[in-house]
Amino acid sequence: MEAEYYTFGPYKIHEKEVFYTSQLSYALVNLRPLLPGHILFFQDISHQLMEDGPQAGQTVPHMHVHILPRKGGDFEKNDEIYDAIDMKEKELKNKLDLDKDRKDRSLEEMAQEADELRKLFL
Ligand code: AMP
Repeated sequence: MEAEYYTFGPYKIHEKEVFYTSQLSYALVNLRPLLPGHILFFQDISHQLMEDGPQAGQTVPHMHVHILPRKGGDFEKNDEIYDAIDMKEKELKNKLDLDKDRKDRSLEEMAQEADELRKLFL
């Protein structure tokens, strides 16, 4: 059977990366998570209600929400996460644009995480 793909801006997302779907939403694991469990969430109503586009710091032009599980001490100063997101995303954009030096996770690694997360929604 042929795999199903989801669209995330210009990228094709293999169904194995997607661990949750509903009529109006879906969630997927991250190609380059900033912290363990950093996932992306999409909901049909969000673009009407939320900041969207490059002005909101997006590098992938498709409305999405980041969910980053936090742990005490993961960043020395709690709010440094926001600088880290900014830096990482810019770095990622440059690397994806140049398509070199990529340290993406493999589909297998992402599929394994998605399998674990999918169990939470059974
Ligand atoms: P933003 O800069 O807010 O648009 O965030 C884009 C996010 O998408 C980053 O966290 C990337 O690691 C993630 N990302 C980019 N391409 C993919 C992909 N093909 N599969 C999963 N996550 C991706």
